[in-house]
Amino acid sequence: MTTEELREQLLMKPVNGLTRLTEDQTAEMNAYCRRYMDFLDQAKTEREATAWAVREAEKRGFQPFIPGMDAKPGDKIYYNNRGKAIALAVVGAKPLSEGANICAAHVDSPRLDIKPTPLYEDTEIAYFKTHYYGGIKKYQWPTIPLALHGTVYRKDGSLICVHIGEDPADPVLMVSDLLPHLAADQMQKPLAKGIEGEQLNVILGTAPLSGEGSDLVKLHVMQLLNEKYGLIESDFQSAELVAVPAGKSREVGLDRSLIGAYGHDDRVCAYAELEALFALETPEKTAVCVLADKEEIGSVGVSGMQSHYFEHFMGALCDAQGVKLSDCFAASFCLSADVSNAFDPNFPETCDKRNNAFVNYGVAICKYTGSRGKGGASDASAEAMGHVRSTLDKAGVIWQLATLGKVDQGGGGTVAAYMANRNIVTVDAGVPVLSMHAPMELVSKLDCYETMLACKAIYLA
Ligand code: MN
Ligand code: MN
Repeated sequence: MTTEELREQLLMKPVNGLTRLTEDQTAEMNAYCRRYMDFLDQAKTEREATAWAVREAEKRGFQPFIPGMDAKPGDKIYYNNRGKAIALAVVGAKPLSEGANICAAHVDSPRLDIKPTPLYEDTEIAYFKTHYYGGIKKYQWPTIPLALHGTVYRKDGSLICVHIGEDPADPVLMVSDLLPHLAADQMQKPLAKGIEGEQLNVILGTAPLSGEGSDLVKLHVMQLLNEKYGLIESDFQSAELVAVPAGKSREVGLDRSLIGAYGHDDRVCAYAELEALFALETPEKTAVCVLADKEEIGSVGVSGMQSHYFEHFMGALCDAQGVKLSDCFAASFCLSADVSNAFDPNFPETCDKRNNAFVNYGVAICKYTGSRGKGGASDASAEAMGHVRSTLDKAGVIWQLATLGKVDQGGGGTVAAYMANRNIVTVDAGVPVLSMHAPMELVSKLDCYETMLACKAIYLA
């Protein structure tokens, strides 16, 4: 055998996925990404993503979950967890005792949460105080246009949806930064300290009402919110208002091969799971799509992946078939669909190039995440990795293996550990992202599309 033949037979030869697509596949990829970008622009928060999923599921015949309901092959059921998370199932031909094929993603993204007593005026400028949500680099958030999204539960019990800054006719909001001329001290600070959490105050206005007092700008802002939404200041006490980057997703690069947007993490996987689920008829095993909240702060809370809402939903499906939930979980498989870091040639020193995901090399399968000796990871077994490998290969999905950065450089987690804690075999996989957790993140169209194909393959495994 020649050296060349040996190399061909024995060694891996990763190639850029774009060189492997047919013309038809490229057209499908582009159409898929247009639909994904449309979803991105409509669903910037977990509530908006959940509402979008409910709307689209109902159009496709999904029924809202009611305890005690049937779960027959072909039934399509969704469980709306308080408007902030959702689980959807297409009941399979085989009973749930043989397990479900689950894809789990999250629909919350890093942002600036408005504090419970947020509104104040200083030097005739009105502001909202914020507390950042999730892991952000604070210096990235001043001097970009921000939009206000959220929900207010008013004193009279009515629910108000707030949405300011996305319509081109709307004003946007902004956090200010210091001019370089006077930044001598600031520029000496480490990046983590250049902008402090308590400086992420969102500017709301500067025009005072006429009259006496030191609160005339604040009062004006409150008047505007009252005219538009009927709000009074105490209504902030029962509100979830968030500031997110304003504006729509964009194609990036002269070749338009990338998508730039706020919150690809992890709506890029959430959308992939949904579209793949919506395309199913009656799968062999029950296919379940989970879109969780609170992943960015530890999967806690009633809408996070540690919550028993998942047992509540899956338990009821199992009850309908006379199956024990623990038997179902023990036989199930979960793809924890979450983004990973794409290798960035600007920061090569942070990654092990031999074990990192690359843009355009397909959905990134992560054997483990975690940090400092795999701490907090759901370290997938050889068998679990083998299952994913053969399933994706059989379906012709373009995929790559990934780890999250150099050993001891940092790390991260996903919902994988919490699914595995339920005695469900779980593997991490998702889209490689550049500038993860920045106000604008980058992904490649190819990787988005292949992640959808991977979810489809897992549902049908
Ligand atoms: Mn994520
Ligand atoms: Mn994240």
